[in-house]
Amino acid sequence: MSSPKYKRIMLKLSGEALAGDKGYGIDETMLNIVADQIIEVKNMGVEIAIVVGGGNIWRGRNDQEMDRTTADYMGMLATVINALALQDILERKGEQTRVQTAIEMRQIAEPYIRRRAVRHLEKGRIVIFACGTGNPYFSTDTTAALRAAEIDAEVILLAKNVDGVYDADPKKDKDACKLDSLNYIEVLDKGLGVMDATAISLCMDNKIPIIVFGLDKSHNIKKVVEGEQIGTVIK
Ligand code: UDP
Repeated sequence: MSSPKYKRIMLKLSGEALAGDKGYGIDETMLNIVADQIIEVKNMGVEIAIVVGGGNIWRGRNDQEMDRTTADYMGMLATVINALALQDILERKGEQTRVQTAIEMRQIAEPYIRRRAVRHLEKGRIVIFACGTGNPYFSTDTTAALRAAEIDAEVILLAKNVDGVYDADPKKDKDACKLDSLNYIEVLDKGLGVMDATAISLCMDNKIPIIVFGLDKSHNIKKVVEGEQIGTVIK
């Protein structure tokens, strides 16, 4: 087994990554695939923090009628459902995990406490961050950037339904090319929708590289952690 390139990683899992083909809800098969890939990397000795999204259940900005703040709180609650599902599958497979939430719900999970999260990681527990930043008008991509900076993660692994960043929408344009690398400014200038501008800026300010890749193939998280060039690197 080759040695990992990183000691501590931040894995951002979008809600869609847990939804499978249906595109909504939580798919047990996908949950298993994701968990196995996480455990494979954990077994390499890598400390893993995870931010989960909620888009498979609810996205605040998609509801134009509802008060935005309320819709966003509903989105944050959706991330808790995903976090608990992920915790459950990881623990069924024998891993130690902790869920920490940015909005207190002590009967369900620990509140987010940075030092405690770091301690869990040092002890080999997988830490799952839920409720995003705890604030409306933000995204879980921004949460991944923020928490990565806070816990000194070396890299953000942005697991997507596509295998990297393209210069055009690959679903609409057959000539779209996958880009191997980009810098933060290019992502902002070209308006590439890979991550929102707040998240990209935070990564740029804190010099945290982002690797965008597809979760479809097994072992992809491991490949990224071993330094194999798959997907797109943004730095
Ligand atoms: N959200 C929020 N503040 C945060 C993170 C998330 O209000 O700090 C809400 C927002 O409504 C968002 C939803 O939670 O649409 C789900 O998160 P996101 O869309 O980032 O999930 P993903 O696209 O990764 O599944």
